[in-house]
Amino acid sequence: MPKIYIIDVTNRDGVQTAKLGLSKLEKTMINIYLNGMGVFQSELGFPTTRHESLYLQANLELAEMGVLKPIRLEGWIRAIVPDVETAFKMVPNIRHLNLSISTSNQMIDGKFQGRKKKDDIINDMVEAVDAAWALGAESIGVNAEDASRADLDFLIKFGLAAKEHRADRLRYCDTLGYDNPFTIYETVRALAENIGMPIEQHCHGDLGLAVANSIAGAKGAIDGGQDAYINTTVNGIGERAGNTDLVAVILAATKSKGFAEKYQLGGSIDLSKAWKIAKFASYAFGVPIPVNQPGVGANAFAHESGIHADGVLKDPQNYELYGFEELGRGEAELVETGREISAGEYSGISGFTHVMGKIAGKVAIPFASREEATEVLELVRYANVESQKPLVEDELLFIAKYPQIAKKLLTLTPLE
Ligand SMILES: [Zn+2]
Repeated sequence: MPKIYIIDVTNRDGVQTAKLGLSKLEKTMINIYLNGMGVFQSELGFPTTRHESLYLQANLELAEMGVLKPIRLEGWIRAIVPDVETAFKMVPNIRHLNLSISTSNQMIDGKFQGRKKKDDIINDMVEAVDAAWALGAESIGVNAEDASRADLDFLIKFGLAAKEHRADRLRYCDTLGYDNPFTIYETVRALAENIGMPIEQHCHGDLGLAVANSIAGAKGAIDGGQDAYINTTVNGIGERAGNTDLVAVILAATKSKGFAEKYQLGGSIDLSKAWKIAKFASYAFGVPIPVNQPGVGANAFAHESGIHADGVLKDPQNYELYGFEELGRGEAELVETGREISAGEYSGISGFTHVMGKIAGKVAIPFASREEATEVLELVRYANVESQKPLVEDELLFIAKYPQIAKKLLTLTPLE
């Protein structure tokens, strides 16, 4: 039976969102949390963008070291040969790619203004796929941008051409959030049946349907005999009204009425990491989690009205579909209410060792020497220059544990 896999695109669609962004260290932490959660793949960035190169290389090194394992790290580029060549030049150790090109009449005419016809789109895509294989790619997804506004016949032709050139998956992009669960089911099922390759669902929330569409699309792919891949972002952060929320779609796939009896998640997703990744993404993006967010919102397990409170006290299942413990919630959080020392870009060794000592009370990270502590502090300062907010414990621990990787992540060399 085909299965559903998660490809998280927070570090690509999430960070390209207007007015929002993450530092390279924060992106790395997201990859680490996604890996810990059992997510199949992280679309970790843009291999053709100069300031991403060292971040991408460093994360791929973490994969080689076994730190980012088994998650698959994949880069997003345009489906044109020059992008493929640039990607392998700038990030020689990149092995997994998604190649994207517009497929709707609206975008082909509206963006290329007559310079490209439908046949050119397919030609560009297959040439890019061939080039990526030739340069050492190990897996390739092909993205049909604006697929929900494209002709089905053209999408099938596009997908068959991708399959002929040994691409692994077709990404069905509902770029504008135009689909509804009924249309995406029909379309994705037809693509799966007629092309015979796994289909990714990339959904947006312009009509409030991103999670529902992802679930319906996954059902379409599996009913069509193929594996389904759902694109998500942490807290649904993404272009305009956002993307399919990672935690909500896992809840929908595993808890909604009867769905998981036939349609199952592949791999092993650890939902108990949900709370941590959602909280971190909220802090890193500087975007609060809405109180009514599924699973991780402040009100997701809150009850006040008489009948509900009484009912949930007698038996939580009276008014809760799933338990807060399943999402890793329930532990008390300590908030400093008195004197506070934090580590930042202008910190000195005394304050820094105090901060690290407080963490060391909980986990073992003693420095071997003052020199080592000074070196880590210097990296912490640079991390803070990028993030402009106090680093969380896991970030400090990461820098202390992998100083060489951190140094690489934090190195930016413009206009070389
Ligand atoms: Zn998108």
